Amino acid sequence: MWKEKVQEYEDLIIEDLKGLLSIESVRDDSKASSDNPVGPGPRRALDYMYKIAERDGFGTHDVDHIAGRIEAGSGEDVFGILCHVDVVPAGDGWESNPFEPVITDDKVIARGTLDDKGPTIAAYYAVKILNDMNVNWKKRIHIIIGTDEESDWLCTDRYFKTEEMPALGFAPDAEFPAIHGEKGISTFDVIQNEKDEAQDEPEYELRSFTSGQRYNMVPDEAVANVAVKENMTDVIQNFEQFLYENHLEGESAVDSGVLVLKVQGKAVHGMDPSKGVNAGLYLLNFLATIDLDQSAANFVNFSERYLFNSHFGEKMGMKYHTEIMGDVTTNIGMISYNNNDGGKFGINLRYPEGFEFEEAMTRFENEIQQLGFSMKLGKNQVPHYVEKDDPFVQTLVQAYRNQTGDETEPYTIGGGTYARNLDKGVAFGAMFSDSEDLMHQKNEYITKKQLFNATSIYLESLYALCVEG
Ligand SMILES: [Zn+2]
Repeated sequence: MWKEKVQEYEDLIIEDLKGLLSIESVRDDSKASSDNPVGPGPRRALDYMYKIAERDGFGTHDVDHIAGRIEAGSGEDVFGILCHVDVVPAGDGWESNPFEPVITDDKVIARGTLDDKGPTIAAYYAVKILNDMNVNWKKRIHIIIGTDEESDWLCTDRYFKTEEMPALGFAPDAEFPAIHGEKGISTFDVIQNEKDEAQDEPEYELRSFTSGQRYNMVPDEAVANVAVKENMTDVIQNFEQFLYENHLEGESAVDSGVLVLKVQGKAVHGMDPSKGVNAGLYLLNFLATIDLDQSAANFVNFSERYLFNSHFGEKMGMKYHTEIMGDVTTNIGMISYNNNDGGKFGINLRYPEGFEFEEAMTRFENEIQQLGFSMKLGKNQVPHYVEKDDPFVQTLVQAYRNQTGDETEPYTIGGGTYARNLDKGVAFGAMFSDSEDLMHQKNEYITKKQLFNATSIYLESLYALCVEG
């Protein structure tokens, strides 16, 4: 019956979505002001949502033009639906204008159709349809709309500073059936403190080393500059042999007495480093075989002892696993060294619920201090977790099952979704197992079937949770 309900609204859904997609709501700091905290595009998209809500008779509440909400229902508890209307830049290679939506028989094509404007409109219509049915709401509904999800989450940071935290909620910004747990995500730097005085005449001096640009990516390239006194040919031969034995691509060149070594790896997302090939750690592994100056040797040895070939924190003494959320993972996303300042490793650590983060950091810091290294903690987001058997999660999943017949269980991930802004919330759709995932890519589209099915799943679950429940 929910599907039939949604059918009556199909044209309206497409129409409203089309309007939202036509707004180029990309963050633009060069045009930021207090009226447009992350640029005019995201602000216009936020105002657009207020406009359709007011047209449909809902209340709205703006929070400094960076986030806000649409209000429906009545009751004690607030049920939150956390959406965002900013999008990533279009990028190149589109077959149509990314901000002029193309509507075909079965799809809508434009930037933001999947992430997150399509799901936002789907969730909005679920609330609107129930409201049009004059249901007897048992909860207040806040459709919370952010405008900075794709960058720094300034929207939700600002919003929850002053606004009510929903008792329960979901973020329609990922996949069905539901993501009920997300690992803790932290970054930290390991910094080489003091540089040993240059010993006289090391045979090989590491001048500089660079690999990787982001904590959350496995670096796919590494470059080392090594000043070589003699036996240049031997080193090059050993390097070729090393590449061969490790099935790596790479190259060497000599530039006025300096040997330039390059290794190619395989970049993957830092949440699953074992699936990639860390070019930086491999190149350090090679450098460990030659007789480097003391400072470089300390740096390289650190990598060998704690980092190389250890994707699950084993060598750092941080191995930890839970049945539900899996393993601690460690990605060494950035590695740099130069012969004046010493070196630095930039590490992205992800951990399941139950891992003693503070304790592990303190213990590791104490251990490496004795080796002349220190630690600088960056951001730490604690794990986000709702029991799979929680009636709330079960109700969402049941709505998904009723609509699709698919029995897939909700699952946990190593990445982070927008849902972690909620005290008790999960990511719920709107990608289906057979949806083509073109989020952040060219020619992003949503099928009408996906859009309408998501709407009816949201409709059924909101009915169960906020009208019956
Ligand atoms: Zn998103």
